[in-house]
Amino acid sequence: MKTNQQNKFSDKNSVLFTTSWDDGHILDIRVAEMLERYNLQGTFYVNQYRGDNNFLAPERIRELSSRFEIGAHTLTHPDLTKLNEQNLQEEIQGSKKYLEDILGKEVLMFCYPKGLYSEMVKRYVASAGFLGARTVVKYVFARPEDPFAMGTTVHAYPWPLRKKDAEHYLLGRHLFQPVEHDFGKFLKTAPPLRAFISWQAYARHLFDYALSHGDYFHLWGHSWEIEKYGMWEELDEFFRYASARLRDGVISVSNSEIVKVDNG
Ligand SMILES: [Zn+2]
Repeated sequence: MKTNQQNKFSDKNSVLFTTSWDDGHILDIRVAEMLERYNLQGTFYVNQYRGDNNFLAPERIRELSSRFEIGAHTLTHPDLTKLNEQNLQEEIQGSKKYLEDILGKEVLMFCYPKGLYSEMVKRYVASAGFLGARTVVKYVFARPEDPFAMGTTVHAYPWPLRKKDAEHYLLGRHLFQPVEHDFGKFLKTAPPLRAFISWQAYARHLFDYALSHGDYFHLWGHSWEIEKYGMWEELDEFFRYASARLRDGVISVSNSEIVKVDNG
Protein backbone atom coordinates (compact mmCIF):
# COMPACT_ATOMS: atom_id res chain seq x y z
CA MET A 1 0.00 0.00 0.00
CA LYS A 2 2.65 2.44 1.03
CA THR A 3 4.89 1.53 -1.89
CA ASN A 4 1.98 2.03 -4.26
CA GLN A 5 1.33 5.47 -2.92
CA GLN A 6 4.93 6.47 -3.32
CA ASN A 7 4.92 5.24 -6.91
CA LYS A 8 1.76 7.12 -7.55
CA PHE A 9 3.42 10.42 -6.60
CA SER A 10 6.83 9.84 -8.05
CA ASP A 11 5.55 11.05 -11.41
CA LYS A 12 6.89 14.59 -11.47
CA ASN A 13 4.53 15.49 -14.28
CA SER A 14 1.43 15.03 -12.20
CA VAL A 15 -0.30 17.93 -10.50
CA LEU A 16 -0.98 17.39 -6.81
CA PHE A 17 -4.41 18.72 -5.85
CA THR A 18 -5.15 19.40 -2.20
CA THR A 19 -7.54 21.42 -0.05
CA SER A 20 -7.50 22.57 3.57
CA TRP A 21 -10.15 23.87 5.95
CA ASP A 22 -9.41 25.87 9.07
CA ASP A 23 -10.80 26.22 12.58
CA GLY A 24 -12.87 23.04 12.98
CA HIS A 25 -16.31 24.58 12.44
CA ILE A 26 -19.21 22.14 12.50
CA LEU A 27 -19.85 22.90 8.79
CA ASP A 28 -16.55 21.18 8.00
CA ILE A 29 -18.68 18.02 7.97
CA ARG A 30 -20.56 19.41 4.97
CA VAL A 31 -17.29 20.23 3.18
CA ALA A 32 -16.05 16.71 3.97
CA GLU A 33 -19.19 15.17 2.46
CA MET A 34 -18.72 17.20 -0.71
CA LEU A 35 -15.05 16.28 -0.99
CA GLU A 36 -15.95 12.65 -0.54
CA ARG A 37 -18.63 12.82 -3.22
CA TYR A 38 -16.03 14.09 -5.69
CA ASN A 39 -13.18 11.83 -4.58
CA LEU A 40 -11.14 14.80 -3.43
CA GLN A 41 -8.83 15.00 -0.44
CA GLY A 42 -8.17 17.62 2.15
CA THR A 43 -6.79 18.38 5.59
CA PHE A 44 -8.89 19.85 8.40
CA TYR A 45 -7.00 22.10 10.82
CA VAL A 46 -8.76 22.24 14.16
CA ASN A 47 -8.29 24.08 17.45
CA GLN A 48 -9.07 22.78 20.91
CA TYR A 49 -12.79 22.26 21.51
CA ARG A 50 -14.08 24.67 24.17
CA GLY A 51 -17.67 23.54 24.54
CA ASP A 52 -19.02 25.78 21.73
CA ASN A 53 -21.52 23.73 19.71
CA ASN A 54 -20.53 25.53 16.51
CA PHE A 55 -17.23 23.67 16.57
CA LEU A 56 -16.21 20.02 16.31
CA ALA A 57 -16.22 18.16 19.61
CA PRO A 58 -13.59 15.42 20.06
CA GLU A 59 -15.90 12.62 18.86
CA ARG A 60 -16.70 14.54 15.65
CA ILE A 61 -12.98 15.16 15.06
CA ARG A 62 -12.37 11.43 15.46
CA GLU A 63 -15.18 10.64 13.00
CA LEU A 64 -13.78 13.09 10.45
CA SER A 65 -10.32 11.58 10.82
CA SER A 66 -11.55 8.22 9.56
CA ARG A 67 -11.86 9.79 6.08
CA PHE A 68 -9.64 12.89 6.16
CA GLU A 69 -6.40 14.11 7.63
CA ILE A 70 -6.65 16.23 10.78
CA GLY A 71 -3.99 18.87 11.34
CA ALA A 72 -3.18 21.05 14.35
CA HIS A 73 -4.03 24.77 14.44
CA THR A 74 -2.90 25.61 18.01
CA LEU A 75 -5.12 25.32 21.08
CA THR A 76 -6.61 28.84 21.22
CA HIS A 77 -5.86 30.43 17.80
CA PRO A 78 -3.43 33.16 18.98
CA ASP A 79 -1.06 35.27 16.87
CA LEU A 80 1.98 33.04 17.35
CA THR A 81 4.43 35.85 16.54
CA LYS A 82 3.35 37.62 19.74
CA LEU A 83 3.88 34.75 22.18
CA ASN A 84 6.81 34.10 24.49
CA GLU A 85 8.64 30.80 24.13
CA GLN A 86 6.74 29.01 26.87
CA ASN A 87 3.36 29.90 25.38
CA LEU A 88 4.58 29.00 21.91
CA GLN A 89 5.52 25.58 23.17
CA GLU A 90 2.13 25.14 24.86
CA GLU A 91 0.13 26.21 21.81
CA ILE A 92 2.14 24.20 19.28
CA GLN A 93 3.22 21.07 21.13
CA GLY A 94 -0.01 21.20 23.16
CA SER A 95 -2.22 21.16 20.06
CA LYS A 96 -0.33 18.17 18.66
CA LYS A 97 -0.78 16.24 21.90
CA TYR A 98 -4.43 17.31 22.21
CA LEU A 99 -5.26 15.82 18.79
CA GLU A 100 -3.08 12.76 19.12
CA ASP A 101 -4.83 11.88 22.40
CA ILE A 102 -8.20 12.15 20.63
CA LEU A 103 -7.18 10.36 17.44
CA GLY A 104 -4.73 7.77 18.71
CA LYS A 105 -2.47 8.48 15.78
CA GLU A 106 0.27 10.88 14.81
CA VAL A 107 -0.67 14.39 13.69
CA LEU A 108 1.70 15.44 10.92
CA MET A 109 0.60 18.89 9.78
CA PHE A 110 0.29 22.30 11.39
CA CYS A 111 -1.37 25.51 10.22
CA TYR A 112 -0.41 29.00 11.48
CA PRO A 113 -3.45 30.91 12.82
CA LYS A 114 -4.19 33.76 10.36
CA GLY A 115 -1.07 32.69 8.48
CA LEU A 116 1.15 34.57 10.99
CA TYR A 117 4.57 33.12 11.72
CA SER A 118 8.24 33.98 12.20
CA GLU A 119 11.46 32.01 11.91
CA MET A 120 11.22 31.22 15.62
CA VAL A 121 7.62 30.00 15.27
CA LYS A 122 8.71 27.77 12.40
CA ARG A 123 11.49 26.27 14.51
CA TYR A 124 9.04 25.43 17.29
CA VAL A 125 6.68 23.78 14.82
CA ALA A 126 9.49 21.70 13.35
CA SER A 127 10.88 20.66 16.72
CA ALA A 128 7.40 19.65 17.92
CA GLY A 129 7.63 16.87 15.32
CA PHE A 130 5.36 18.18 12.57
CA LEU A 131 6.31 17.43 8.96
CA GLY A 132 5.12 20.76 7.61
CA ALA A 133 2.94 23.83 8.11
CA ARG A 134 0.50 25.72 5.91
CA THR A 135 0.45 29.49 5.42
CA VAL A 136 -2.17 31.70 3.72
CA VAL A 137 0.04 32.85 0.83
CA LYS A 138 -1.98 32.70 -2.41
CA TYR A 139 -1.20 32.06 -6.09
CA VAL A 140 1.31 29.27 -5.48
CA PHE A 141 1.50 26.67 -8.27
CA ALA A 142 4.66 24.80 -7.28
CA ARG A 143 5.11 22.22 -4.54
CA PRO A 144 6.61 23.82 -1.42
CA GLU A 145 10.38 24.07 -1.17
CA ASP A 146 10.12 24.77 2.55
CA PRO A 147 7.64 22.31 4.09
CA PHE A 148 7.07 24.77 6.98
CA ALA A 149 5.97 27.52 4.59
CA MET A 150 3.46 25.63 2.46
CA GLY A 151 1.61 28.10 0.27
CA THR A 152 -1.86 27.88 -1.24
CA THR A 153 -3.28 28.67 -4.66
CA VAL A 154 -6.72 30.06 -3.95
CA HIS A 155 -8.86 31.11 -1.01
CA ALA A 156 -12.54 30.13 -0.91
CA TYR A 157 -13.72 33.68 -0.40
CA PRO A 158 -16.04 36.11 -2.21
CA TRP A 159 -14.58 37.25 -5.55
CA PRO A 160 -14.06 39.80 -7.06
CA LEU A 161 -16.12 41.92 -4.67
CA ARG A 162 -16.16 41.53 -0.92
CA LYS A 163 -19.52 40.61 0.55
CA LYS A 164 -21.23 41.33 3.83
CA ASP A 165 -23.29 38.14 3.64
CA ALA A 166 -24.79 35.90 0.97
CA GLU A 167 -26.96 38.67 -0.48
CA HIS A 168 -25.14 41.94 0.09
CA TYR A 169 -21.84 43.49 -0.89
CA LEU A 170 -19.66 45.25 1.64
CA LEU A 171 -19.77 48.77 0.27
CA GLY A 172 -16.87 51.08 0.99
CA ARG A 173 -13.15 50.98 0.62
CA HIS A 174 -12.89 47.22 1.21
CA LEU A 175 -15.20 46.35 -1.69
CA PHE A 176 -12.34 45.48 -4.06
CA GLN A 177 -10.10 43.96 -1.39
CA PRO A 178 -10.23 40.37 -2.77
CA VAL A 179 -8.91 41.57 -6.17
CA GLU A 180 -6.40 44.06 -4.73
CA HIS A 181 -4.68 41.49 -2.57
CA ASP A 182 -1.61 40.28 -4.55
CA PHE A 183 -3.12 41.59 -7.76
CA GLY A 184 0.26 41.49 -9.52
CA LYS A 185 0.65 37.79 -8.82
CA PHE A 186 -2.84 37.17 -10.14
CA LEU A 187 -2.19 39.16 -13.34
CA LYS A 188 0.88 37.01 -14.01
CA THR A 189 -1.50 34.10 -14.60
CA ALA A 190 -2.93 36.02 -17.59
CA PRO A 191 -6.52 35.74 -16.37
CA PRO A 192 -9.26 35.80 -19.00
CA LEU A 193 -12.15 38.19 -18.47
CA ARG A 194 -14.38 35.43 -17.14
CA ALA A 195 -12.02 34.92 -14.19
CA PHE A 196 -13.24 38.30 -12.88
CA ILE A 197 -16.88 37.35 -12.99
CA SER A 198 -17.34 34.81 -10.22
CA TRP A 199 -15.31 32.93 -7.63
CA GLN A 200 -16.03 29.68 -9.38
CA ALA A 201 -14.65 30.94 -12.72
CA TYR A 202 -11.66 32.46 -10.91
CA ALA A 203 -10.87 29.18 -9.11
CA ARG A 204 -11.25 27.22 -12.36
CA HIS A 205 -8.83 29.56 -14.11
CA LEU A 206 -6.24 29.12 -11.32
CA PHE A 207 -6.72 25.37 -11.45
CA ASP A 208 -6.23 25.35 -15.24
CA TYR A 209 -3.15 27.51 -14.77
CA ALA A 210 -1.73 24.99 -12.26
CA LEU A 211 -2.32 22.24 -14.82
CA SER A 212 -0.51 24.07 -17.60
CA HIS A 213 2.22 25.88 -15.62
CA GLY A 214 2.69 24.08 -12.30
CA ASP A 215 2.58 20.83 -10.36
CA TYR A 216 0.55 21.94 -7.34
CA PHE A 217 -2.91 23.30 -6.56
CA HIS A 218 -4.14 24.11 -3.05
CA LEU A 219 -7.57 25.48 -2.20
CA TRP A 220 -8.11 26.61 1.38
CA GLY A 221 -10.99 28.14 3.27
CA HIS A 222 -13.34 28.24 6.22
CA SER A 223 -16.58 26.27 6.00
CA TRP A 224 -18.39 28.99 7.99
CA GLU A 225 -17.43 31.52 5.32
CA ILE A 226 -18.83 29.27 2.57
CA GLU A 227 -22.09 29.43 4.49
CA LYS A 228 -21.90 33.13 5.38
CA TYR A 229 -21.22 34.21 1.79
CA GLY A 230 -23.53 31.68 0.14
CA MET A 231 -20.77 29.87 -1.77
CA TRP A 232 -21.86 26.21 -1.46
CA GLU A 233 -23.06 25.94 -5.04
CA GLU A 234 -19.92 27.55 -6.43
CA LEU A 235 -17.75 25.27 -4.34
CA ASP A 236 -19.68 22.24 -5.53
CA GLU A 237 -19.28 23.29 -9.17
CA PHE A 238 -15.58 23.83 -8.70
CA PHE A 239 -15.14 20.42 -7.03
CA ARG A 240 -17.00 18.80 -9.92
CA TYR A 241 -14.72 20.55 -12.40
CA ALA A 242 -11.53 19.50 -10.59
CA SER A 243 -12.79 15.99 -9.96
CA ALA A 244 -13.41 15.44 -13.68
CA ARG A 245 -9.68 15.95 -14.27
CA LEU A 246 -8.46 13.46 -11.69
CA ARG A 247 -7.52 10.99 -14.39
CA ASP A 248 -5.56 13.48 -16.50
CA GLY A 249 -2.47 13.50 -14.32
CA VAL A 250 -4.12 15.23 -11.38
CA ILE A 251 -3.77 13.41 -8.07
CA SER A 252 -5.78 14.41 -5.02
CA VAL A 253 -3.84 14.16 -1.76
CA SER A 254 -3.85 15.39 1.83
CA ASN A 255 -1.52 18.24 2.88
CA SER A 256 0.99 15.90 4.54
CA GLU A 257 1.23 13.71 1.44
CA ILE A 258 2.57 16.74 -0.45
CA VAL A 259 5.32 17.23 2.08
CA LYS A 260 6.11 13.50 2.08
CA VAL A 261 6.46 13.45 -1.71
CA ASP A 262 8.91 16.31 -1.68
CA ASN A 263 11.03 14.67 0.96
CA GLY A 264 11.48 11.64 -1.19
ZN1 LIG B 1 -7.71 29.74 11.77
